[in-house]
Amino acid sequence: MKIFDAHIHIGGDSKPDPKALIEKMEAGGVYGGGLYSIDPLNPDFTYEERMNSLFSWVEGYEDRLFPFAWIHPHEDNVLEQVKDCAKRGVAGFKFIAGTYSIRDEKAQDVFRLVEELRLPAFFHTGILWEMSENIDDNRPGNWEQFVNYKSLKFCMCHCSYPWYDECLAMYGKFNWMTNHAQKAANGEHTLYANYPWVKDHITEKDGKRIAETPEMYMDTTPGANGLYRDDLLKKLCYLVPDGNRVMFGTDRHAETYQPEVTSYWISEQNRVFDEVHATEEFRNNFYRESFLRFIGK
Ligand SMILES: [Zn+2]
Repeated sequence: MKIFDAHIHIGGDSKPDPKALIEKMEAGGVYGGGLYSIDPLNPDFTYEERMNSLFSWVEGYEDRLFPFAWIHPHEDNVLEQVKDCAKRGVAGFKFIAGTYSIRDEKAQDVFRLVEELRLPAFFHTGILWEMSENIDDNRPGNWEQFVNYKSLKFCMCHCSYPWYDECLAMYGKFNWMTNHAQKAANGEHTLYANYPWVKDHITEKDGKRIAETPEMYMDTTPGANGLYRDDLLKKLCYLVPDGNRVMFGTDRHAETYQPEVTSYWISEQNRVFDEVHATEEFRNNFYRESFLRFIGK
């Protein structure tokens, strides 16, 4: 299977070398993945430099390495940046709420624009090892606000470790709401057909009623390790048996990608999947299809 690693960072302290990265990924059993641009809070790089670096890192491997722009909603001209990223052809965006809340007005303006552009967004969720006080901003419940969006595709990275029970419950809620909107759009019976949320999420397109709802994904990037990882993966297999919208990621850096770490995670995960008899469908979605669906491939 051609595995995708959804979660790779670009550090900025070395020259882009996509060929070397692909070789290391292959050595770790991975075919391609998603790359996040240099941290927008890194004072050594301008926006232009961060974008140039991002696109240099995927050059020549555009069907295997996908560029995600890491954006800070409080930057000057942030809305122009987001539009510019879309013009340059990013696969999507990455956000880490280390020094802001995803509920603040500037952040909301950015997410509304991302939704309008129909591009997906990765969010760090869960405990954040960063030099600021931000625990309340990274608890998964904050992302429940996206029920009010129409079509935003967003991913809860790290399954919000250590609060993955809350993250999984929210995944259930988003699915449940979406199912009811879809049923109502198809004219099937649902008790909720006339509830405001359901009505708000049905539109007419070419004379047909369709449900337009936000889509929540999860990436299982550690975060959860050892005992916690087994627990998380088992709960995922139990609650999301088809693995739909669940992704694999490593949180490695492009310049120092470690094949032995990637293959370690793959074999540890497969040990758990074998133990709980995870289906082929689950594994296909987990390692590959969910990521490709997220980026619209
Ligand atoms: Zn990360």
